[in-house]
Amino acid sequence: MKRRHLIKGASTTLAGLFAADSMAKNQTKLSSPHWIHTADVVVIGSGATGLPAALKAREAGCSVIVIEAESHLGGHAICSGGNLPLGGGTSYQKKWGIEDSPDQVFNDLTDWSVVSANGFPDYRYNDREVIRAFADHCAPTFEFLLKHGVVVVDKAPDTRGGNSVGSSIPREMHCAPMDWPLIQTGQPADPKVRQSMSTGNGLMHPLIASAKKLGIVFLTEHKMEKIIRKDGNSGAVLGIEANHKGQKIHIKAKKAVILGTGGSTSNVQFRRMFDPRLTEEYCGVAGTPWSYQDASGELAAMEIGASLWGLFNNTGEFGSGITKPGSIGGQFGYVNLRFYPGSEVFHKAHSIGLTVKDWQNVITVNMIGQRFYDETGPQYESDNYGVNPNYKPGSYLNAKNLKWNPNNYLNAAMAGIGDGHNGGGPIWAIFDQAAVEREKWDPIAPNVDAERGFFFKADTLLELAQKIKMEHQRVPMPAENLMKTVERYNSFVDQGVDSDFGKPKPKYKIEKGPFYAAWATPVLHDTRAGVRINSKAQVCDMKGEVIEGLYCGGESAGGFSMHGLARATTQGFIAGKYAALEPQKH
Ligand SMILES: Cc1cc2nc3c(=O)[nH]c(=O)nc-3n(C[C@H](O)[C@H](O)[C@H](O)COP(=O)(O)OP(=O)(O)OC[C@H]3O[C@@H](n4cnc5c(N)ncnc54)[C@H](O)[C@@H]3O)c2cc1C
Repeated sequence: MKRRHLIKGASTTLAGLFAADSMAKNQTKLSSPHWIHTADVVVIGSGATGLPAALKAREAGCSVIVIEAESHLGGHAICSGGNLPLGGGTSYQKKWGIEDSPDQVFNDLTDWSVVSANGFPDYRYNDREVIRAFADHCAPTFEFLLKHGVVVVDKAPDTRGGNSVGSSIPREMHCAPMDWPLIQTGQPADPKVRQSMSTGNGLMHPLIASAKKLGIVFLTEHKMEKIIRKDGNSGAVLGIEANHKGQKIHIKAKKAVILGTGGSTSNVQFRRMFDPRLTEEYCGVAGTPWSYQDASGELAAMEIGASLWGLFNNTGEFGSGITKPGSIGGQFGYVNLRFYPGSEVFHKAHSIGLTVKDWQNVITVNMIGQRFYDETGPQYESDNYGVNPNYKPGSYLNAKNLKWNPNNYLNAAMAGIGDGHNGGGPIWAIFDQAAVEREKWDPIAPNVDAERGFFFKADTLLELAQKIKMEHQRVPMPAENLMKTVERYNSFVDQGVDSDFGKPKPKYKIEKGPFYAAWATPVLHDTRAGVRINSKAQVCDMKGEVIEGLYCGGESAGGFSMHGLARATTQGFIAGKYAALEPQKH
């Protein structure tokens, strides 16, 4: 190990440290990129895939650089709930007397039968090679995370993630934040819950600290834009091109590049390849504005010949893929994530949002002021919390026992207004002052984002409809529609029956101003398809051949529809393990 690779610390020291390497390179081949930095393994993205990949490669003696597009580390993983379904016989499962095995994990995640209450099979289309590798590395990944400082809540693993994260038996553990500051507030959690709550802060802060201690170099505000192969579209991967504050720089990877770029959900054109309805107005992707899933990993890999894989998984109506917003009145309404003024991204989030406790307090209307569904209706129901109580892995009886419920709140919201546009347009929650009082909301900044058009207030419904103007409201809301909708809804409250959409016993009239309109458009969450990988997490091309020196994991990789952290951390572990075994290419 050369001394320079053991240096801890800031990116500013790097140019000097790596200058010798880049000069040598320039002398040998004039046409080759001007390599500013060099490492054995270059990891793209500092999230749930990137950190385990970097640590695993570093443990094997490689020098490692992690580049991160944002000014901060952790990706969506640090924003996450930290619920970690890693099984297969972990020390924690053994400690609590739970029997598990890699074969059991494999069987759960290749279950062809119906898992979700709306009839969707979560795992039917998973790639067996990818899942076998996951199953075999699941428990070692968990022990590895513990070794690098992750603390899980000291209680028996549970089935909270249920069959929807492939857990037919208790596997889910929860990462405790301990004394780390939460990225949501900038402050540590209440001392009373630091060891018992679950958050991605508890997963990622320890891994980042361990990586820094081991001399892994982080280059923030470096966005990978290109992957460089030896001969354009063939030959081994030699490094990457990144954009650092408008400047293009090249980073050499002697052994391998690992993509942990987190998926494609923020990229409108890319996500519409899977579902044309997902147009621009779905601008509140979960986990943003902390980091973005802009498909840059997938696009760079495709540009050098990579194949995509397992595409059905990105369109299925799985539990959290698209969610009903849990908070309203701001751009980012994901149910389990709030950014508060102490967060370093609060200036990008703009507001905290108003949490909706009871959907009886609002009606939701489309951009022309019409209701479209029962507001209390759920999102796609998955078997997350045992909604299919008699569920038996791999049994046709799951389908037979199903009480079909298509749960169409989301599909109804995205149906559109019949003007030929593919997206549904903004959805607005409409309510009056009495609802504000019942919900105990304080509908002013920073709780709502009126400045950027995600929240409106007016004394009359007429005025309210006229005020709704913002980027995604592509047609004016006809005031007469909104007034008629509210009048009709109020009549349903009198009758105790919603004869349009069957909202159970509509409770409250919307009758006395001020009146409000709050952004309540569905939120996009997971990416479940990406580039094709094999059992070693090596990226494959359209012929199924390995692209030498390129690895991928997590939400940017395809063939595996499991939600979340277990998939990403384990695939990062696999990628780091095999990348370290690569020969040096230059
Ligand atoms: C609010 C929320 C709650 C969640 N809760 C849970 C949970 O409790 N349990 C669970 O299992 N899962 C959960 N998830 C899902 C889980 O966080 C993700 O599936 C996981 O983090 C994906 O890992 P990843 O490595 O693919 O991407 P990420 O963790 O998002 O990391 C990707 C990183 O790559 C960076 N990047 C992207 N492109 C580039 C580029 N071109 N150059 C440089 N850097 C780049 C990004 O900025 C980001 O930092 C949650 C997600 C969210 C948003």
